Amino acid sequence: MAKWGDGVQLADTPLGAVLAAAGELAVRIHEEQRRLEVARAWGVLQSRPMTLVDHAEQDAQGLHTSTADCACLVCRCDLFISAVVSPAAPGLCACPEHAAALGASPKDCVLLIR
Ligand SMILES: [Zn+2]
Repeated sequence: MAKWGDGVQLADTPLGAVLAAAGELAVRIHEEQRRLEVARAWGVLQSRPMTLVDHAEQDAQGLHTSTADCACLVCRCDLFISAVVSPAAPGLCACPEHAAALGASPKDCVLLIR
């Protein structure tokens, strides 16, 4: 199958496929915004950009700076786009909906956003 990296052009792509992809992207963006609001409503006020790498990374204290290749400790969903971490729970990461499962106070939690 040809991919964008192979030089496929938008003009070569069937309109139905473009519309389906745009629809899927819109749904994904809406869902991600909803998930971030759940964490903010719980009280997570800090956020920072995730380190732009395609693998999990942690700082010297064990706090994730990238959660690519990580899964939420509760629902096991992928944390490539966003995650919640806390210095009070080094090595752990959760999706924005399950931030409370880290066992840290919301004020000590940070939203990592790609
Ligand atoms: Zn989760």
